[in-house]
Amino acid sequence: MAALTLRLLFFFFFLVFLTSAHDSLSARRQAAVLVSVKQSFQAPDPSLSTWNLSNYMGLCNWTGVTCDAYNKSVVSLDVSNLNLSGPLSPAISELQSLVNLSVAGNSLFGDLPLSNISGLRFLNISNNLFSGCLDWDFSGLPELQVLDAYDNNFSCPLPVGVTKLTKLRHLDFGGNYFSGRIPRGYGGLNQLRFLSLAGNDLFGFIPGELGNLSSLKWLQLGYYNRFDGGIPGDFGRLSNLVHLDLSSCGLEGPIPGTLGNLKNLDTLFLQTNQLNGSIPPQLGNLGSLKSLDISNNALTGEIPVEFSALKQLTILNLFINKLHGQIPESIAELPKLEALNLWRNNFTGFIPPKLGQNGELIKLDLSTNKLTGQIPKSLCYGEKLEILILLDNFLFGPLPDDLGKCETLSRVRMGQNYLSGPIPDGFLYLPKLTLVELQDNHFTGRIAFEKSTASSKLEGLNLANNHLSGDLPTSIGNFSGLKNLVLSGNRFSGQIPSEIGYLKGILKLDMSRNNFSGTIPSDISNCPSLTYLDLSQNQLSGPIPIQLARIRILNYFNVSWNHLNQSLPEEIGSMKSLTSADFSHNNFTGSVPETGQFLFFNSTSFTGNPYLCASYLIPCNSSSDLQSQVKTQSSKSNVPARYKLIFAMGLLLCSLVFVVFAVIKTREVRKNSRSWKLTAFQKLDFGSEDVLGCLKDSNIIGRGGAGVVYKGTMPNGHNVAVKNLGISKGSNDNGLSAEVQTLGKIRHRYIVRLLAFCSNKETNLLVYEYMPNGSLGQVLHGKSGGYLNWETRLKIAIEAAKGLSYLHHDCSPLIIHRDVKSNNILLDSDYEAHVADFGLAKFFHNNGASECMSAIAGSYGYIAPEYAYTLKVDEKSDVYSFGVVLLELITGRKPVGNFGEEGMDIVQWVKVQTKRSKEGVVRIIDERLKNNVPIEEAMQVLFVAMLCVEEQSVERPTMREVVQMLAQSKQPNTFHIQ
Ligand code: ATP
Ligand code: MG
Repeated sequence: MAALTLRLLFFFFFLVFLTSAHDSLSARRQAAVLVSVKQSFQAPDPSLSTWNLSNYMGLCNWTGVTCDAYNKSVVSLDVSNLNLSGPLSPAISELQSLVNLSVAGNSLFGDLPLSNISGLRFLNISNNLFSGCLDWDFSGLPELQVLDAYDNNFSCPLPVGVTKLTKLRHLDFGGNYFSGRIPRGYGGLNQLRFLSLAGNDLFGFIPGELGNLSSLKWLQLGYYNRFDGGIPGDFGRLSNLVHLDLSSCGLEGPIPGTLGNLKNLDTLFLQTNQLNGSIPPQLGNLGSLKSLDISNNALTGEIPVEFSALKQLTILNLFINKLHGQIPESIAELPKLEALNLWRNNFTGFIPPKLGQNGELIKLDLSTNKLTGQIPKSLCYGEKLEILILLDNFLFGPLPDDLGKCETLSRVRMGQNYLSGPIPDGFLYLPKLTLVELQDNHFTGRIAFEKSTASSKLEGLNLANNHLSGDLPTSIGNFSGLKNLVLSGNRFSGQIPSEIGYLKGILKLDMSRNNFSGTIPSDISNCPSLTYLDLSQNQLSGPIPIQLARIRILNYFNVSWNHLNQSLPEEIGSMKSLTSADFSHNNFTGSVPETGQFLFFNSTSFTGNPYLCASYLIPCNSSSDLQSQVKTQSSKSNVPARYKLIFAMGLLLCSLVFVVFAVIKTREVRKNSRSWKLTAFQKLDFGSEDVLGCLKDSNIIGRGGAGVVYKGTMPNGHNVAVKNLGISKGSNDNGLSAEVQTLGKIRHRYIVRLLAFCSNKETNLLVYEYMPNGSLGQVLHGKSGGYLNWETRLKIAIEAAKGLSYLHHDCSPLIIHRDVKSNNILLDSDYEAHVADFGLAKFFHNNGASECMSAIAGSYGYIAPEYAYTLKVDEKSDVYSFGVVLLELITGRKPVGNFGEEGMDIVQWVKVQTKRSKEGVVRIIDERLKNNVPIEEAMQVLFVAMLCVEEQSVERPTMREVVQMLAQSKQPNTFHIQ
């Protein structure tokens, strides 16, 4: 018996010995695997220093490593967001016990040798540089045929090998560079709870087989993927789905009614596709739905009444569609609705009167519809309403009094309606209010500025084109935060109070088209930030106070159509920023000063002042001369009407003759215009025939406002880009060829070189050096924007800034670009930036992308405010546009587009979002760069950008300063800029 016990004991100890020997061996092997995984990373993160073979016994405490408590094998590896780059070593496949693996948020690429780790349940490789082109060993996988059948040769497909990992519950391939179709085999991973393939380059139809993933709770397929066809009806079988996000991925066709079967869904995001047809009433069955966003599609029809059953709904976004009909009353009764955004549709009828009575409403935007009736009284019932935007409808009646007590309000935009009555007491003093737009309505009465004790946060107040009357009270001075105050087109009267000088931050002050009388208060000169001052069409009298000349940054000054008198102060001419001034139709006397800015003002700026003299008005001889000339002028204007008629008919006849002549001449010119002339700006190995040979449709690489751009290969093998300006307005006149001669002389590393100019009588061709990576705009706003890491973006910013700085500071005369934008920053094969298309925009302004401002050369979203006001441009307008490019680089967003509110652009959006705080910056950084941006650098670049987009041009830095500031923002040791 004792012997048996002894033997058993011996056996037990032997077993223990064996097990521990096995454990330590296994630990050593696993440690070796992890060390080789670490070695395959380029410059591994310091936090991986614990991954050291000499410390293999402590394996389970290594960074990111979790072991099984019982047998100490590695079950979980989390190396997410460690700034790792390089491939994932194949050795990892030896970690057979691995259950969880996350390498998310790094810059990893290459193979994913994971298909043998059959116990894997959680796999997250999101936000890396993986693309299917080099990846995965597909051998022996039946799905390979599927892949062959559905993927063309050109794609870098999603790994089919993943279908072997049948225990997978969480699969995140989002934010990588896989392209091609989604393998149907993914529909066999029936344990999956989470699947994200969002933010890749996927295309083709979404396979209906994904509808077999019956355990799935979370499905995300959108963003940058560009699918064919629509949403598979089979998704209606994903009965456990809680979150479905198919936004921004080119989906067409109707929303399948089967989605109404997804009873557990709390989020449905289908926004920014091309979905059409009507909203299926079955969506009303989604009783758990909290967020529904189907905005920015082409949906038609009405909001289904069945939506009344969406009792959990908090956000309903239907904006930018073609929906019509009434907003159902039942929407107003949804108990939890916080945000209702229905703007830019064709909704008619009334705003449901009960809207807001649920006590939860925070944001309401119904702008640009055809809504009529009155504004409901209860919008702020729950005292939560922050944003109220109803602009551009047919609303009438008063602003409800209750809005005057809605202390949570911050933005109110109600312009372009038929609203009437007074502005409620206290409304403008609401403590959080920053923007009030009530322009183009029928508001009457005085504005209640009287409550003098409160201070206000108001930055923008636009009351233009109403019927407001009475004095502007002295308490206007309480609104010291105002930046824009527009009171034009009302019936305000009385003196302009001197307290207007308390508005220290005011940028734009427009009091035109009112009945203001008395003198212009000299206190306006206490507003140092004023860039725009319009006092025209009032009853003002007296002189222009010379103190106004102290506003060094005023751009626009209009006092026309008043009764101002005395002489024009010479000091006004010393205001260097003043590019547009209008003194016309007053009673000014004396001579127009011939100094400073007066030399540049348009002569029409002085007309209608009978006692004002200048060489281009009435010569300054003697006062009696003046009087008589005034008489002569007025008698001239009394020409009998029949002479006027004869004159007009004569003019018409002449115009007709001229047109006929011009047509004949044009035909002649066309016949004789075959001879081409090539002006080379450097030694060239090609001639005009070679350039003309490029003009084939198959060579087109881009189209812009000015014309088509072709790629061409010259006989010496060099590539060029040929821009065909076509029969442009400026083709043979207006100094285009002279300008081109100047531009051709410019040589700078960061400026696209103009090689030659090739023209005949009809056509102008500009031959540029070819930039293989296209424009920054295309790259940044395309899928490959993710490849543009922060360092490259900063490098591009500095290089482009250097190019512009050269144009501004090193060329004589200086060259204003006039169309700085990301599409005009081209990238060579090393992603080095080269500024393009400088100096020419003025020749093509009518063709440009700026839809609403045809007189402006430049592109919508990039145009400096003073340029829009005054049509005058200087190099600081370029600085503004460059600031917009910097914001694009930081945020990855286009300068105009969907910023969640009608009319908002990137500059306003960034201001609202960031308030220049650190947390704010984190919020706006391009999602694709997340975790890979040195935040201090981003803050600094944002700071520079915000300086560049300052409203007042003098407050913007010069391009030379921009270069310096950007170079300083670079933290040491990241890259070297020459
Ligand atoms: P706009 O006409 O308002 O300036 P744009 O800059 O987009 O708009 P273009 O300058 O005509 O228009 O250029 C159109 C496209 O042609 C560019 O986006 C770019 O992709 C391509 N392109 C232009 N010049 C070159 C070049 N030198 N090398 C390579 N691609 C070029
Ligand atoms: Mg261009």
